[in-house]
Amino acid sequence: MKCFSLSEGTYTVNQSKIFIPFNSEIDSVKDRPGSLLVEICPFFIVSEEGLIIIDPGLGLKNVEGEFQILKNLSLLGYNSTDINYVLLSHLHKDHIGGIAYEENGELKPMFPNAEYVFQVEEMNDAISKLPSKSYEENKLLFLKSYKNKRELLGNTPFSKNIFCEISGGHTKNHQVFWFNSENKKYFYGGDVLPQGIQLIRRFMAKYDFNGKDSAALRIQYGKKCAEENYTCLFFHSSVSPISKVKLMEDGRFELTAI
Ligand SMILES: [Zn+2]
Repeated sequence: MKCFSLSEGTYTVNQSKIFIPFNSEIDSVKDRPGSLLVEICPFFIVSEEGLIIIDPGLGLKNVEGEFQILKNLSLLGYNSTDINYVLLSHLHKDHIGGIAYEENGELKPMFPNAEYVFQVEEMNDAISKLPSKSYEENKLLFLKSYKNKRELLGNTPFSKNIFCEISGGHTKNHQVFWFNSENKKYFYGGDVLPQGIQLIRRFMAKYDFNGKDSAALRIQYGKKCAEENYTCLFFHSSVSPISKVKLMEDGRFELTAI
């Protein structure tokens, strides 16, 4: 099993929930008060059980007019039709924008041969919140009625080596993924553990459904990763999307980018 980052780049986002591209060479965060600086980093896993995309991001095109996620895949030698599964931690628009794209007024799957995997209660909750700045309604409805989907209900072994665990915290039915193979173990914490820095500077985030739960879960997951040798995958990290976590004797965490 091997994991690759498929970063769509860096953005700022504020209360409006609009993601604005950020170029560190010409832009300054000071000019965007009240904004968070985030990377959008979907992941690609090559495993014995198939080719997997985790949270396909915003689904935006680059300046050349290509979908950045597909461009990244092509640089690794793969294309959209190769993908077997798309795993979704939750359904916020920055995580599922890349499930589909619009053509002639119609949504088409970005990964036409893939099974799309999500928690059914997460979908029900998202639909009940519409209209909302956090969700892209057309993509949600596309996914809800998509033919090739797997709707999970609660903690579920997805396959022999992959386990889907409900975390809650960020959204009510947010899930995290544990990947166990003989040669490699990965943990994807979605937006409960979106950046490694959140293990180092501990805080409660306003954007979480339950900030207290999320803050406690991050530490719990960090400890498990350190103790059981999981490599962490951080969806919003600009510095180190794929990192090893070490728990020091004084309880601090140390991260090493891979
Ligand atoms: Zn989110």
